[in-house]
Amino acid sequence: MTVTHRPAPAPAADLVGLFPPGSHLDRDGELVVGGCRLTDLAERFGTPAVIVAETALRERARQYVRALAAHWPNSQAVFASKAFPCTAVIRVLTEEGLGVDVAGGGELAAALAAGADPARLVVHGNAKTDEELAMAVETGAGTIVVDNHDDIDRLERLVPAGAEQRVLLRVIPDVEADTHAAMATGHRGSKFGLAVPDAVRAAARLRASDRLRLEGLHAHVGSQLLETAPFARAVEALGALGELGEHAVYDLGGGLGVRYTYDDAPPSVEEYVRTLTDAARAQLPKGARLLIEPGRSLVAGAALTLYRAVTVKPGPRTLVAVDGGMGDNLEPMLYGQRFEATVATRVGGGAPCDLVGRHCESGDTLIRGVPLRDPRPGDVIAVPVTGAYCYSLSNNYNGARRPPVVFCHAGTAREVVRRETYEDLLRRDVPAGGEAQRTAVAGDG
Ligand SMILES: *Cc1c(COP(=O)(O)O)cnc(C)c1O
Repeated sequence: MTVTHRPAPAPAADLVGLFPPGSHLDRDGELVVGGCRLTDLAERFGTPAVIVAETALRERARQYVRALAAHWPNSQAVFASKAFPCTAVIRVLTEEGLGVDVAGGGELAAALAAGADPARLVVHGNAKTDEELAMAVETGAGTIVVDNHDDIDRLERLVPAGAEQRVLLRVIPDVEADTHAAMATGHRGSKFGLAVPDAVRAAARLRASDRLRLEGLHAHVGSQLLETAPFARAVEALGALGELGEHAVYDLGGGLGVRYTYDDAPPSVEEYVRTLTDAARAQLPKGARLLIEPGRSLVAGAALTLYRAVTVKPGPRTLVAVDGGMGDNLEPMLYGQRFEATVATRVGGGAPCDLVGRHCESGDTLIRGVPLRDPRPGDVIAVPVTGAYCYSLSNNYNGARRPPVVFCHAGTAREVVRRETYEDLLRRDVPAGGEAQRTAVAGDG
């Protein structure tokens, strides 16, 4: 992935445009999201905090629902919950009619807690354990995506006689996506799914099974894709496997990129869905059912992170250190993802600064060379487009308490996840000399 950014400071309007739709500056020039002033939110909920504009989240889901209804009615959008596995977010998206993609027991538990319809769950994972597969089968998960031959062995053991579990087979489409290597999943040698000769053998096994019903195929080429061609090539690769019948299911995965910086120009949801459905018309049976699994593109732009500047150090380039960092946003460190930022009360303009985190790593740099106008300690700093893979990858490094999630709508704010407490950090400690410890070693004689 090429990381580009404009060197010149951005006008305020460009910056506001990266925040959730409906965001604006008030009379004092302060950023307002979901009708709430960011400084008020920082005051009330503390920092760092993840702020979600609920209307923007719903509207994005509706874009998917509308585009699919217009171009391929026999279809379903499924939220890849790993992008933002927060119960309240999953609840909103299921209310909008989406199914839920889960990878593993924890995400399955979150989807169920959010009230997701088990029939609309799609269970993923390249290393699903017996425990997780049993959980999926017992839950009545609508679809399990078989990744490998061992999944088939396990499911043959776990699905009770007389029952039938619907499955899809994950195929490596052999498509190279122009994204960071850590986000590409559809290339030859990928750890996800089976390459074609092996996939054909697995399909034959599944067809012969009386407990597993092979409904169709799955492919996912990667994440943060900023062009449509690889998506069309993946549909072609699935079509080339053929022989699944007129009403087979084709799950085309997720991966649509989002606009993190001024220079990103991702396809719209409409363009993306049109690409997939055009390719499906050319390559797949007319009666096929299509699933798509957007994650990042559903949630990223609906949220932002608020920090407070703790110290501002002069130097070759001004360093602005905030009270969060790689504990709440690992995207810059894992994928080299570029973000933008602004002082909430002084939007636009300013000289390039390095926005750094509070963690004991030099790699804990959130944004290099980001223009901030006259940053001072105590300022609220807002980083837009943090709805995807930030909450999910947040961690307790340096004893960081994971941030709260706050929903804003029409001027009211409500916390849907509270900030972790120091007690939370110690909660799993087993008391020294306690009963639990003694029973754990009881088998040692
Ligand atoms: C991660 C993932 C997605 C979602 O990808 P995004 O880039 O967030 O849209 C969809 N399907 C599968 C199988 C995934 O692993």
